[in-house]
Amino acid sequence: MGGAARDLLMGATPPDWDVATSARPEAVQALFRRTVPVGVQFGVVRVLLKDFEYEVATLRADLGYSDGRRPDGVRFTDLREDVLRRDFTINGLALDPMTGEVTDLVGGVADLAAGILRAIGDADARFAEDRLRPLRAVRFAARTGFAIEEATYDAMRRAAADVAAVSVERISEELKKTLLSPRPGLGWRLLADTGMLAAVLPECGEAGPADPVAAALDAAVGIGDPDTLWAIALWPLGADRAGKVLRRLRQSNRSIRDAADTVRLGLAAATIDDRDVVRAKRILREPRARAGLDALAAWRKAQGLDDAPVRAARDRLAGWTDADLHPPRLATGDDALAAGIPSGPRVADALTALEDAQLGGDVTDADAARAFLQSMAARPAP
Ligand code: ATP
Ligand code: MG
Repeated sequence: MGGAARDLLMGATPPDWDVATSARPEAVQALFRRTVPVGVQFGVVRVLLKDFEYEVATLRADLGYSDGRRPDGVRFTDLREDVLRRDFTINGLALDPMTGEVTDLVGGVADLAAGILRAIGDADARFAEDRLRPLRAVRFAARTGFAIEEATYDAMRRAAADVAAVSVERISEELKKTLLSPRPGLGWRLLADTGMLAAVLPECGEAGPADPVAAALDAAVGIGDPDTLWAIALWPLGADRAGKVLRRLRQSNRSIRDAADTVRLGLAAATIDDRDVVRAKRILREPRARAGLDALAAWRKAQGLDDAPVRAARDRLAGWTDADLHPPRLATGDDALAAGIPSGPRVADALTALEDAQLGGDVTDADAARAFLQSMAARPAP
């Protein structure tokens, strides 16, 4: 039903199977041994089989949408009404699993064949019912490359500002899926052109035009890591503000840090000086350095710049061993004090300077480390 029928007709493997049935939730629960009542009030029961699970939904009509997010309640009904509450014609197909027969009450088969994304019924009304739908339209367009039918597109523009009323979790989920789609750049352009970007990511509008971002996302196709894609999308904001946006979007702490580090390291890698091997090692040894280089590569490609700095950095990285990047500690704070460095912040500075000397190849053993610390102690405080 819905997504699975659409995916099969497009030749794709459905990620999940939503089953629709005229049986009531109680009957579904009675029929299968293991079930989870995920939303019985909406008619949805999860059925757990040996190695698969299905969401089984009783055919339903939604009763009113007073909050613009979810229906107030449902009434059980027939296939026609169930299909009419769905969002887009390509999502309104019903596949009979026994016969393989497709029932199409909304022209979804023709739209699939023609590559058109069209709201079922009156687009303005459908977007007012559930304000997430315009964002789902962007996601499906980015996934399929389908053209958005004109009346649907116009309604998306009118509904753009209201998308911000949806919970930030649902918004983030759609944005992330759009970034992970085969056409993230197209998705970004649609977000910008409809006005949704200004509504859900106002920070991006302040940071600059959307087109270069879309071009960078186009250049990033094949990157499957959402945090790298976030880094490319939020690149013009810089690392700190990118992290703040992702915090507002309630991403995990790990994602926030990984995406912000990707921006920071990508920008830093762009300014690596051939002669400064110490700085190059400090940047490139960080866990997100490769992601940063991927993001930098996408941005440079989009701007018509050559990839020489990225290639140079990748080559250097390939030539270094783990020990080159993380030399063994040759001295402790106590060693620094013993060498005559006064206790306080100068100890940490001295140890950092010692590691720099190791990264640069000037200090390679404990004796040299001791001499290095003594020479630092002899220097006047900065
Ligand atoms: P995905 O490939 O990400 O699973 P999907 O289209 O299958 O996308 P689901 O969330 O699995 O989306 O929903 C299954 C079906 O339920 C959709 O194909 C659509 O028919 C309907 N549907 C889901 N969300 C909405 C919505 N917000 N408004 C209207 N119909 C919806
Ligand atoms: Mg689905």
